[in-house]
Order: sequence, then C-alpha cells, then structure tokens
Amino acid sequence: MFRWSTASIRTRLTSWYVLAMFVLLAVYAATTFAAVRHEFVEQLDDQLDDDLESAERRLALSDGRVIWMTETSQDPDDDTDRDQSQEVWSPAGESIYRSLSASALPALFPDGGMSGRRHDSIAAGGRRWRTLTAPTLVGGRTVVVRVARAEDRMRAELREVLVVLVLGFPLVVVLAGFGGYVLARRALEPIDHLAADARRITAERLHERLSVPNDRDEIGRLAAVINDTFARLEASFEQLRRFTADASHELRTPLSVIRGIGEAGLGETRTPAEYKEAMGSMLEEVDRLTSLVDTLLRLSHGDAGRVRLSPEPVDLGELARDVVSSLVLLAEERRQRVVVEVTSGVRVKVDRLVIREAITNVLDNAIKYGPDGSRIDVRVTIMSDEAVLTIADEGPGIPPEYRDRLFDRFFRIDDGRSRDRGGSGLGLAIAKWAVDVNAGQVSAEAGTSGGSVFRIVLPLASTTKADRPIQTVQPAARGEL
Ligand code: ADP
Repeated sequence: MFRWSTASIRTRLTSWYVLAMFVLLAVYAATTFAAVRHEFVEQLDDQLDDDLESAERRLALSDGRVIWMTETSQDPDDDTDRDQSQEVWSPAGESIYRSLSASALPALFPDGGMSGRRHDSIAAGGRRWRTLTAPTLVGGRTVVVRVARAEDRMRAELREVLVVLVLGFPLVVVLAGFGGYVLARRALEPIDHLAADARRITAERLHERLSVPNDRDEIGRLAAVINDTFARLEASFEQLRRFTADASHELRTPLSVIRGIGEAGLGETRTPAEYKEAMGSMLEEVDRLTSLVDTLLRLSHGDAGRVRLSPEPVDLGELARDVVSSLVLLAEERRQRVVVEVTSGVRVKVDRLVIREAITNVLDNAIKYGPDGSRIDVRVTIMSDEAVLTIADEGPGIPPEYRDRLFDRFFRIDDGRSRDRGGSGLGLAIAKWAVDVNAGQVSAEAGTSGGSVFRIVLPLASTTKADRPIQTVQPAARGEL
C-alpha cells in the first residue's frame, strides 16, 4: 500500500507538483471562465445600449400620445426578432408597445421601471433574457422603455468555453504530472549516481573520491562535502593505523629489552648482585612500559571525551612559576638557567591540572633538548586579549617542515636521540590535547637567536586585568644566574 512517509522523493515531488498544478489550473480556469463570462455579458449590455438608442428613436408623440413607429421593412419571422424584444410602458403601468417576442417576458409593472437605467437577467418562457430598462422623455412625456436580448447564444458559447476548460483540465494535469515526474527523475538522477559512487568507497578504498561534474550546483556542493568527509575519514584512518603501529612498536622495545635481560640472566649462573642489577633494569623498563600505557590510556580517554574537566580561574603566571620550580632540579642537573618573566594577574579559566601538564611537557622538552648551560625563557603576558605563555630554549630548534607534525602522536624528529632522553613522542600530543580542550592553541616556531619557541595561547577569564611584568630568575645549578 502507498505510504507517504516511505515514498521516494521522486514520487513525493511529483505528487506535490501535480497537486500544485491542480490547484493553480483550477484557479486559472475559474478566473478565465469568470472573465470570459463578464466579457460576454458586457458585450450583450453594449448591444442592449444600442437597442435602447434605436428604440428611443422610434418613439414619437402623436395627438398627445406616445406612439411606436414600426419600420415597414420589418419581417415578423426574422430570427433576430425572436431573440430580442422592445417594449414601451407608461408610468402608470399600461403597455404602449410590445414587440412580438416581448410577450414571453413578464409585464414590467408592478416591479416598475422608473427607478432609473438598469440591467437585469431574468428567466421567462423557458429562456433567459438580458434586459435594459430605462425611463425616457418623448416630447415632455415620460415613458419606460425595456429592451431585451435572449442569452441563449451567449450561454451556448460559454458552455463551449466551459467544455474546453473542463475537458482540457485533466489532460493538462496528467501532462504536468508526467512532466513533473520526468523532471524530478532527471534532477535526482545525479544523487543516484552519487550514492552508487559512495557505496563503492569502502574502508580499503578511502583514497577514492566522488566525481564532481559541476562544483557550483547543489549536487556538486553535496559531493564536495562528502568528499571532504572522506578525506577526513581517510586522514583519521591513516592516523589510527599509524598510531596502532607506533604504539605496538613503542611497546615492543621495552618488552624486547626485558626479554633480553631475562634471557641473559637465565643463560648462565650469576652472582646475587648481578641478578639484582638485572631485575633493577627490568623494573626500569616495566616503569617505562607502565607510563607509556598510562599515557596511551589517558590519550584514548581524552579522544573519547571521557576526561572530566573542572575549569577554574587560574593565575597563569603563578602556574608557570609552579611548573618551573617542580622541574628546576632537572635544569640544574644540566646547568641551565630558567628565566621567568610574568605579567601579574593574567587569569585564565582552565582545568589547572590539565594545563599544568601541558606546560610541564613543553618545559621538560626545553630542558631535554636545550644544551647544557643554556638559557630557557618562560614568559606569561597578554596579547590581543588573550593570555600567552611562551617557552623559548636554545636547543636545536624545529625544522619548519616538521612543525605541523610535531604534535602528532609518536612523532619524533630524531628517533634515537629522543628515545635516549626517555621520550616516547607523546609529550607534545598530550600538551596539544590539554590546550585544545581548554579552548586554546599551542604552536612551535623558530626562536630569534636559534632554538625554538613554544607558544600556548589561552582565552582570558573575564575579570582579567594585567599589571606590570615581574621578572624572576630560577636559581640555576651551581649558583649560576
Ligand atoms: P618526546 O617524548 O620524544 O620528547 P614530544 O612529543 O615531547 O616527544 O616531542 C616530539 C618531538 O619533537 C621530540 O622527539 C623532539 O624531536 C621534538 N621536540 C620537542 N620539543 C623540542 C624542543 N624544545 N627543541 C627541539 N626539538 C623538540
């Protein structure tokens, strides 16, 4: 059974089209018919006006009485005579003259005809008549003249117009419905092609795209949007694949080390001290594994949106100082100088712990990749109504071609060097996630005198107003400042 809600767009469009066409045509036909009818009646009335004029010309006064002068040539069998009539009545309601066919009409009085000129339609003798009644003066005497014409011919013509309109109506609606169906089919055909194309693109063939014959029309724009979606899907699939491969690779390394240590320990009998040392190394690798798995878990929770944030107003300068003091020992080991320059009162509304981790990871990298005895600058300020935290180091810097991928998971510029320093390639990915979820942006650029500058931009909490910058220098190792 036909159900509107499950019908195809093509069927629904055609149905709407037919319905609209039906209503429009009905209105059009009714209006046309009314206009034609009005025009016919007007024509009849014009003829009656002429009839009245010629009737008035035939009236004369003879011996103080109004008389009708008959034309000698008049033929009583004339066809037109039966279709038209003339009458003259006295104001008292006496008939002065009635033409032959006028006998079919009812007497003019008592309805009267003195009220002025008026057109009427009346039924008499099984026919309909159009009449014009008007008082007129004949030599100072008032009489009432009524001229009439049968409406038969006009009605026959109107009937013909009606027949044409009524018979043509379903024909036009059916033709319009057919045309509508063909149009809807043609208009929707590209969508069928699109669907067939899209069905072809599976997870294994995500590099394929829908063809866009005309990118300006609606279908073209739809195809472009679907293509964009495919492109994003492909990128996500690719990222996921790389992530899985990298994660497995990352987990394999400590596992192989543990296995290696275990095999070496079992290979020959060793002293208790050597066993202890082997176990210590194994535990170190286990720690590495545990922290890696923890980080991966946190990232996947972050991706799934399962990390609950508690945003609160945080003084970004204080937070930066706090992070610096917790990492200063690492810097001291490398005789690095951490200079903190903070505009006081830079308040942001963020999750303190999450942003703290982002700053920690970036500062940790600056310490890790900065050379021994170098300087690290931590600045907190306000720029263009945003809180900006920069961490600049004097390390090797980030080549421009890597800047986009720097925040990708497991991305490392120099695999060996980073791994030697205990890096897993996840620090900046975590930092990016942490800043992103707090509505900020993190980026890396080249420092003015070498090294790299990491910039974290966060929206200000609404009540922030900046004071003067305050500079503090963290004590570096061996008292260097
Ligand atoms: P990792 O744990 O390996 O340090 P990150 O995600 O923190 O991982 O960093 C990714 C890579 O970006 C690092 O391996 C390193 O090559 C590069 N990198 C990060 N910070 C710096 C920096 N301050 N100077 C130079 N290179 C950096």
